[in-house]
Amino acid sequence: MAAKLPRAKKRFGQNFLVAENILPEIISAAEVSPEDTVLEIGMGTGILTEALAARAGQVISVEIDRELYAEYVPRVAIYPNVHVICGDFLQEAENIFRGARGRLKVIANIPYYITTPILEKLLEYRARLSVIVLMVQKEVAERICSEPRNSAYGSLTVFLRYYADARLICIVSPECFRPRPQVDSALIRLDVRPELKYQPLSEKRFFNIVRGAFWGRRKTLRNTLKQSPYTHYTAAMLEKLERETGLDLNRRGETLSIEEFVRLADVDFAS
Ligand code: SAH
Repeated sequence: MAAKLPRAKKRFGQNFLVAENILPEIISAAEVSPEDTVLEIGMGTGILTEALAARAGQVISVEIDRELYAEYVPRVAIYPNVHVICGDFLQEAENIFRGARGRLKVIANIPYYITTPILEKLLEYRARLSVIVLMVQKEVAERICSEPRNSAYGSLTVFLRYYADARLICIVSPECFRPRPQVDSALIRLDVRPELKYQPLSEKRFFNIVRGAFWGRRKTLRNTLKQSPYTHYTAAMLEKLERETGLDLNRRGETLSIEEFVRLADVDFAS
């Protein structure tokens, strides 16, 4: 366990990993090898960066906090295969992906307050990624990894799983961090698909239907698709949807599989 830890800044979502026994778990979940270039979001004290440096070919780590960067960059700078960037990952992503070659692995204990923007940014660059292993809030992990009819299943599940397979690796106790977060954490692995498994005729309509279907939870599809700002379907459109897909619109969005959402989205109203 690290002897002295910096004072954590809440605004940067700092919860430093202190349980070293989690490190091999993270490394093996991502199957890190010397062929890999790894991107870490949030170097923190460099505990994970150091573990990655020992296994990966190259490590690129980004840290937004200038003070932390200045204090801990010497710890990891001794590894010739580590490059640390001081900046906001969301701003730096474009430069990083432009500068790196091949497909990267992202391995990070991310700041939870920007989980969704980070996931969105990573999916934007999905063609440049293979595996993503992230420490996230347990609730988020459950949402990402759940199946239809599970209470955690929602638009985030469908959005992510449209692009990647997802697996919950393990639950991680608040005790593994300093300061201890208020919530449980979980390690997840996403395998980004080089080719999409689902192919709706219009992605825009697909995502609008998904957003619409989850717009009012516990409402039937008939109601959400009629009322949501993403869909606003008329009675005639709903009738056509039901007729052409054979899906019961009295079902709720949380019961639909991704394939079923694609079927709904593929109904053409122009003809
Ligand atoms: N990986 C370290 C730190 C985890 S805490 C560990 O496991 O101990 C999250 C880290 O992300 C903090 O160091 C925080 O300063 C950093 N961070 C927060 N927002 C960031 C952003 N937008 N870009 C890059 N790093 C960020």
